[in-house]
Amino acid sequence: MILACPQLPASSDAVIVVGGPAGTVAARLLAAWGHAVLVFTKAEADAPTIAESIPPSCRKLFRAVGILEAIDAAGFFRSTGNTVWWGGGVSRAEAFAEGALGYQVERRRLDRLLRSQAEAAGAPIIERMVTRVEFDAGRAVVAVVDGAGDETSVDARIVLDCSGRAGVVARHGFRRHGDGPATLAIVAVWDRAAGWPLPEPSHTLVEAYRDGWAWSVPVSASRRYLTVMVDPRATDLERGGDLAGTYRAELAKTRQLAGLTQDATLAIEPWACDASVYAAGRYAAPACLLVGDAASFIDPLSSFGVKKAIASAWMAAIVANTGLTRPEMTEPAHEFYTAREAEVVTSFARQAADHFGDAATAHDHPFWTGRSTVGDDLADLANQPSAGIDVEALRGDPTVQAAFTDLKQRSRIDFGPGERLRIERQPGIAGREVVLEARLRLETPAMAPTAARFVRGVDLPALVEMAGDQGQVPDLFDAYNRRNPAVSLPDFLGALSLLLAAGALRHRSA
Ligand SMILES: Cc1cc2nc3c(=O)[nH]c(=O)nc-3n(C[C@H](O)[C@H](O)[C@H](O)COP(=O)(O)OP(=O)(O)OC[C@H]3O[C@@H](n4cnc5c(N)ncnc54)[C@H](O)[C@@H]3O)c2cc1C
Repeated sequence: MILACPQLPASSDAVIVVGGPAGTVAARLLAAWGHAVLVFTKAEADAPTIAESIPPSCRKLFRAVGILEAIDAAGFFRSTGNTVWWGGGVSRAEAFAEGALGYQVERRRLDRLLRSQAEAAGAPIIERMVTRVEFDAGRAVVAVVDGAGDETSVDARIVLDCSGRAGVVARHGFRRHGDGPATLAIVAVWDRAAGWPLPEPSHTLVEAYRDGWAWSVPVSASRRYLTVMVDPRATDLERGGDLAGTYRAELAKTRQLAGLTQDATLAIEPWACDASVYAAGRYAAPACLLVGDAASFIDPLSSFGVKKAIASAWMAAIVANTGLTRPEMTEPAHEFYTAREAEVVTSFARQAADHFGDAATAHDHPFWTGRSTVGDDLADLANQPSAGIDVEALRGDPTVQAAFTDLKQRSRIDFGPGERLRIERQPGIAGREVVLEARLRLETPAMAPTAARFVRGVDLPALVEMAGDQGQVPDLFDAYNRRNPAVSLPDFLGALSLLLAAGALRHRSA
């Protein structure tokens, strides 16, 4: 139930500008953790909403934020995989691993479900439009208007901008406006009472064509959303062209998906929404976090937007909880959040560019070539080294290999702290909080200096601390696994070899 005009308190711990997955999940978590939360949303519009594919890998995250049961009980249409005609036009049917099922969701239904989950946790959703947010002395002042146009303001210790592309806060000095290509999604809904003549009717379908791509999501046995993704500047839409005509013209360019409309009825006329990517220059400021699509928008080709939004909400709730309970940790927690959001958007930008590059080999058209490199506004983000250790690179590192060979030849071990052992305290997550945890600064000739806590699941500071206690590798392995979440022997030996190669450990006897 959305509260239309309740009396608003003058202040709150957190204000969340909400409506979609990011805001509702962050609100649910913060309320469940005992914070006073005010959640504002725009009135639900009558306009149709899109359908989206959510991969099975999202289930782990749903469980972590406590919504898996509700999602499973909602009766969303389940999919077994994707069928893709990319690049050369050859059909590739990809089933999800191990028979897992994804979800095909109508967004209005998903949003309503997530709102009810937030409310059940004690975060009532209040129907007021957020008009502006100002920051003063480390607090946020949030102005909202009700349906009658009356304005009120609420003072908050932190505001979470979860307003998606609207970017209520994000648009004021945070967001980098993409100078990359614009993408417009033109969506329509089709019904076919007898079902669809497809080998895998539950699959999401994706087809690249000369200057765009088409995408179809089934939400029941008889209803499919069928979308074309185009560069609006390359169509006559910007010169006042007709949306329905453009939709049909684009669909006619496809070889596979156009056939779906035969013997089908147009249930909802085409409508359009912006699907251009963007990012922000920073994701946190005093009393403010940008969350989900308010922070950045990744290419919809990935089908990871909802997952990314919920992961961002989970992290933002932890960061907000940290600042509200231990204000002295606010700054490192915000830095941690910004680094993580930048890393996520960077990694998706790289993946999308690779996919578009593949299509460009078959369709030599500016639509594809323009998307096969990371846009200038994201390039500096994309050029940042990604955090963490590149395990693949380590396998080919000669110093790690030499340490491994030497280790295998020793019948006894006698480890001591190495001359290059450097322990740093850096932010990491422990439960619902950001804490400063020990990391090792490691460097080998093939690896740039990197501060890391884990490699292949092995807790490096914990291993260094106990490495001198045992005289044989198997005993050290057993002792490590008794005290820590168990790891495999190859992972353990790999981590040990890295510590030796980087000089964080040394053999005390030759
Ligand atoms: C064409 C297209 C296809 C996509 N396909 C997929 C897919 O298949 N799979 C997938 O996982 N993702 C997909 N996505 C991405 C996905 O939709 C988003 O990543 C996800 O919805 C982000 O959630 P969010 O909560 O951050 O933002 P949103 O879902 O955009 O929610 C923001 C909310 O804030 C509200 N709001 C805005 N301004 C105000 C204000 N001033 N006051 C109060 N409330 C306000 C809005 O009403 C809205 O409800 C697609 C996106 C597009 C555009």
